[in-house]
Amino acid sequence: MDQIENLTSSIRDFAKNRDWEKFHTPKNLAMAIAGEAGELAAEFQWLTPEGSNSDQLSDEKLKDIRLEIADVQIYLFRLADVLGVNVAQAVLEKMEINEGRF
Ligand SMILES: [Mg+2]
Repeated sequence: MDQIENLTSSIRDFAKNRDWEKFHTPKNLAMAIAGEAGELAAEFQWLTPEGSNSDQLSDEKLKDIRLEIADVQIYLFRLADVLGVNVAQAVLEKMEINEGRF
């Protein structure tokens, strides 16, 4: 089992153990991704472009950003799982499309 499958399985078990699967419709998960993406963006709100670079951020700020990245990624893995999307294949497919476009 690769790392993506391991993470997907852990997130699935987390939801199942809390009886949250009923809430994890694709619509709700897509909305959760948007909400968490907003929380990630809020971490950068009011920073200058230079101030957003990693060497300018405090350890505490970097931790907050890291945890918001995790929130977005957790919901992305969960949405992919619910829809039966293979994340690695989807990324490779999209990168191939991008190679042809740019
Ligand atoms: Mg969050």
